[in-house]
Amino acid sequence: MAYVIPVLPTPSLAVEGTHERFPIHRIYCVGRNYVEHAREMGHDPDREPPFFFMKPADAIVTDGADFAYPSHSRDVHHELELVVALGSGGSAVPASRALDLIYGYAVGLDMTRRDLQAEAKKMGRPWDTGKAFDGSAPCSALRRASEIGHPTSGAVWLEVNGSVRQLGNLGQLIWKIPEMIAYLSTLFTLAPGDLVFTGTPAGVGPVERGDVLRGGVDGVGTLSVRVV
Ligand code: MN
Repeated sequence: MAYVIPVLPTPSLAVEGTHERFPIHRIYCVGRNYVEHAREMGHDPDREPPFFFMKPADAIVTDGADFAYPSHSRDVHHELELVVALGSGGSAVPASRALDLIYGYAVGLDMTRRDLQAEAKKMGRPWDTGKAFDGSAPCSALRRASEIGHPTSGAVWLEVNGSVRQLGNLGQLIWKIPEMIAYLSTLFTLAPGDLVFTGTPAGVGPVERGDVLRGGVDGVGTLSVRVV
């Protein structure tokens, strides 16, 4: 096949314990999937269930790389999240079979231009400029589910310059992973290479150039990036 313009490389993640990489197809994200985070954002989780939004696959920043502070914002926030990586796809997948789609897990940051997101909310506009900007999805190497299983509890945490800013537990997820994947598969046809950022616990806040962000999900791994 010949193309009339250059074909860009497929974004990918390292896989712990292998020399091969995981190619990324789409990045789905879950909003307000922890009660305390929904409340800190001014919402009632009993009245507004979680929901989905997306980032482009090439928004990935790999572990140890720099996060470039984006343009048009003075209020860029960290959101540390468990990331699910799908090894196979499907549509209308029952929750009872959803875990079978999962290749592995990683630790990600849903970086957010909070000021642009707040403006979009107020104006009833899409969130893309707030959520889907270049470099908005730092993500660690994957751990294979065949190696670590399917985590259902464990601390979800983020330190900024060594101080703990976010702390939650996977047990606090409103949408558990099987039901999240099952529901997502009724909205979109899921495919191998899809990532799902599963939502952030409470404690989100702004970052500054020079900050070192280090976060993790116990039983999965850690992620470090520097803000430049
Ligand atoms: Mn998020």
